[in-house]
Amino acid sequence: MYLKNIELYGFKSFANKIQLTFNNGITGIVGPNGSGKSNVADAVRWVLGEQSAKQLRGSKMEDVIFAGTENRRQLGYSSVSITIDNSDKKLPIDFSEVTVARRVYRSGESEYSINGSNCRLKDVQELFFDTGIGKEGYSIIGQGQIDKILSSKPEDRRDLFDEAAGIVKYKKRKSVAEKK
Ligand code: ATP
Ligand code: MG
Repeated sequence: MYLKNIELYGFKSFANKIQLTFNNGITGIVGPNGSGKSNVADAVRWVLGEQSAKQLRGSKMEDVIFAGTENRRQLGYSSVSITIDNSDKKLPIDFSEVTVARRVYRSGESEYSINGSNCRLKDVQELFFDTGIGKEGYSIIGQGQIDKILSSKPEDRRDLFDEAAGIVKYKKRKSVAEKK
């Protein structure tokens, strides 16, 4: 399983539609300060369902939509899609490629889809439970996050081990069942 492609439109500094294609292995993104490297990581976090504008280095969700420049008008929505190679079937879905997309309008309305079919945020989250990929996963390690892990409460740190051990989905199901 690896990230094959990211498509961005109107996300933060990316006003034009752009595609970034990756191969299996290590890829580095380099560029001058402020050129949008971290925005690419934010886009991945966002499409996986990040709900906190602060985690995305903004103050409100609208801040992920291209805000315009002197020569260019702001845009009305932002969309990101990522395509993951799933030929090893690590994601519990019967497709060898999985595309997850999210779009948000200035009104705040958010839409998600998996392989082109509209879905709920919950479906996106469930797809990635126990893979280490979801927004709570450890595959995106942001600046300062290592310190946060080391200084977090034991219960919070345990969540990381649960994710690695692959028992998050069972814990979630148990807590849903207990509420019924
Ligand atoms: P550094 O090397 O300093 O970490 P970086 O390449 O990671 O830089 P980013 O933080 O990804 O840079 O990009 C910051 C740029 O994105 C800033 O110029 C900022 O104005 C722009 N930006 C962020 N949100 C928006 C938005 N909604 N609309 C337009 N531009 C935006
Ligand atoms: Mg950066």
